[in-house]
Amino acid sequence: MRIGAPKEIAPGEARVAMTPASVRDLARLGHQSLIEAGAGRAAGFADDAYREAGAEVVPDAAALWSQADIVVKVRPPQDEEVDRLDADKTLISLFHPGQNADLLDRVNGTGATLVAMDMVPRISRAQKMDALSSMANIAGYRAVIEAGSHFGRFFTGQVTAAGKVPPAKVLVVGAGVAGLAAIGTATSLGAITYAFDVRPEVAEQIESMGAEFVYLDFEEGGQDSSATGGYAAPSSPEFREKQLEKFRALAPEMDIVITTALIPGRDAPVLWTADMVAAMKPGSVIVDLAAERGGNCELTVPDERIVTEGGVTIVGYTDFPSRMAQQSSTLYATNIRHMIADLTPGKDGVIVHDMEDDVIRGATAAKGHEITYPPPRPRTA
Ligand code: NAD
Repeated sequence: MRIGAPKEIAPGEARVAMTPASVRDLARLGHQSLIEAGAGRAAGFADDAYREAGAEVVPDAAALWSQADIVVKVRPPQDEEVDRLDADKTLISLFHPGQNADLLDRVNGTGATLVAMDMVPRISRAQKMDALSSMANIAGYRAVIEAGSHFGRFFTGQVTAAGKVPPAKVLVVGAGVAGLAAIGTATSLGAITYAFDVRPEVAEQIESMGAEFVYLDFEEGGQDSSATGGYAAPSSPEFREKQLEKFRALAPEMDIVITTALIPGRDAPVLWTADMVAAMKPGSVIVDLAAERGGNCELTVPDERIVTEGGVTIVGYTDFPSRMAQQSSTLYATNIRHMIADLTPGKDGVIVHDMEDDVIRGATAAKGHEITYPPPRPRTA
């Protein structure tokens, strides 16, 4: 098959869904790669590097979309891209079908097959295709780097001839993939790191990464017993009150707060309120990785960095993976290549779109003029 990656056209998007390394891997599966001229430039991949890897560089988007059988992308398609789809094409991209029902309808209207990388089931076998995790890992790392660039002190404590410097105190709220990456990065820079999550089972992971788990004195099983199936559920009002009380006590002590708390299918819970921001020391930094879903901090402005009157910087950027485009493109292109490997069982360039396969079924949101989202629950772990 001919697999093509266009240049991303969403404003500010620097990632690309194909790299020279993934071109070589796709060739081993029997596929020919096409890349739009300049598509990898913002991520640090030159056209020549793709050529050397065996890809054909095509001059523009029109040529790319007409020649490719499978189009691989980062962002959901924009209108002009949907118009380039037809029943013989497959589109593989991040899509968020639950939040993009109209767009899903339009893609389905073209008859194209749609594989949403964000719908890959989070089961062990599919970890290599789990783009949500690979992007969250980068966002968590980058959140700490971003915090450091606005924080006027060291992370690590030092005793120098010019004086003693205390270590920075970092609180990470939400210890999913992004939160754990933030914990790892902050502790490796020498900060004293604390972390909180409603799911009690993450305590061990947090502590194994050198951070201190913030326990709540809550009667029903310590943390929140409503958290089920590995994902958080909305907290009870009593639990939430306890949590806010704890955060209020921690706010004056913390130098950096990184919030990552999300509940599937809902707006982000507001956990860091305006009075907590006001209680923080001047020069403190909050990075709100939940900004795209409304933010965990009450004062977050999505896509902006603001400084409060009290001197607290609040970063609400929603494009952290794109700010590390080379790394995120490399990992995302690898996620895509693994998906294509599963779609090419014979490694012979022949696509077998097996809807009996839990992973392929889970990620397929439209096929043959039929919307196949939401998928049934996967049977295997
Ligand atoms: P997420 O982005 O949905 O949420 C981030 C974190 O916020 C979660 O840990 C959640 O518990 C926490 N949270 C929600 N409400 C909160 C609150 N009020 N206060 C504090 N924290 C709160 O999470 P994610 O990174 O997508 O991971 C979710 C789950 O999926 C985890 O159990 C993770 O281990 C699992 N996972 C499994 C796989 C796999 O097996 N392939 C891959 C990735 C993630």
